[in-house]
Amino acid sequence: MSLKILAVTGRIGSGKNSVEDYLRDKYEYKIINMADVLRQMAKEEGCGLDRQSLQNLRKKYGNTFLAEKTVKIIEGLNDNKIVIGSMRRPEDFLIPKQKFNDNIKLIVIEARKDVRFQRIKKRGREGDPKTIKEFETQEKKDEEIFEFKKIFSYADYVIDNNGTLDDLHKQIDKIMREKKMNIILIGPQGSGKGTQAKMISEKYSIPHISTGDLFRDAIKRGTALGAKAEKYINQGILVPDEIVINLVKERISKHDCKTGFILDGFPRTLSQAKMLDSIVKINCVLNININDSVSIARLSSRRQCRKCGEIYGKEVKPKIEGRCDKCKSELYQRDDDKPEAIKKRLEIYHRQTIPVLKYYKSVVHDINGKQTVEKIFEEIFGILE
Ligand SMILES: [Zn+2]
Repeated sequence: MSLKILAVTGRIGSGKNSVEDYLRDKYEYKIINMADVLRQMAKEEGCGLDRQSLQNLRKKYGNTFLAEKTVKIIEGLNDNKIVIGSMRRPEDFLIPKQKFNDNIKLIVIEARKDVRFQRIKKRGREGDPKTIKEFETQEKKDEEIFEFKKIFSYADYVIDNNGTLDDLHKQIDKIMREKKMNIILIGPQGSGKGTQAKMISEKYSIPHISTGDLFRDAIKRGTALGAKAEKYINQGILVPDEIVINLVKERISKHDCKTGFILDGFPRTLSQAKMLDSIVKINCVLNININDSVSIARLSSRRQCRKCGEIYGKEVKPKIEGRCDKCKSELYQRDDDKPEAIKKRLEIYHRQTIPVLKYYKSVVHDINGKQTVEKIFEEIFGILE
């Protein structure tokens, strides 16, 4: 029987109870609520739950009495799936962690201040702050007492709970699936790869990471890597692997990638794939296949407006042929959308991609890209499930 303990923490109004309820109802976890443990202890001691009483308890039993009591309760249980709820102070987590090691994982629930305030207001319990100002004052005090920032730094998973209950449940499901979805999406231009990446990202709540976005973001944030990348981009030179891999590394170390990510447009070459392999294990490579002729047909039908830059193609046709819907200017075919230019791009694509696919051979799945967007996604869904 393998013990699985999930510790849940978050600031007031972040939705800790909703997380606990869902883990209990859907995944049959037993909830040990630290607030209840404390209440029970206070009752046995014949004291209250005010700050002075708690201080006295700490004096009597030591600073970590509540965490130690909770560990004892868990050890006395026969259950193997346990949630420790209402965890607040760093030691509430560190003491059980010392005891249960890798069998315990910390889930941190984050939500914006205004969202949390609205939740508290709706709850309308006695003593709840009535204005955002009151709320902020209380938060400041809580921050000092509970050291949220410190306990948050131990997070194994971070749930972003600013949305609906449904969004919250989706994120919990994702954590419970446990299976990491570290995905690479490969496909030539015109394969509809970007659309599929977006759909996978939404379905599984894992971030869609494209190198183009990474460059833009790093440049916007003014980071050292961004400044380096910008130099190359401005000169029209490919950004060197060293810089790209460091940007990818930085991105996938963020919390939202803990259960997976979709890399789009990376790795492009064998040497990039080897570099990536040294920092993260990829469990699935989705290779969307289309014939060059389809690629060429799709891309060479693309027309762009000379004035506003709007792009039209097979799917989005202009109302009047050769004229932009928005500004009525002339549409033209860009040089790099001409069949000869596309052929050249595809040649490079195949030359670079074949070794990458060979490298990841054991986890590559080929997908027929000549189907509708929905059919392609169905195929991908079948593989990921
Ligand atoms: Zn236009």
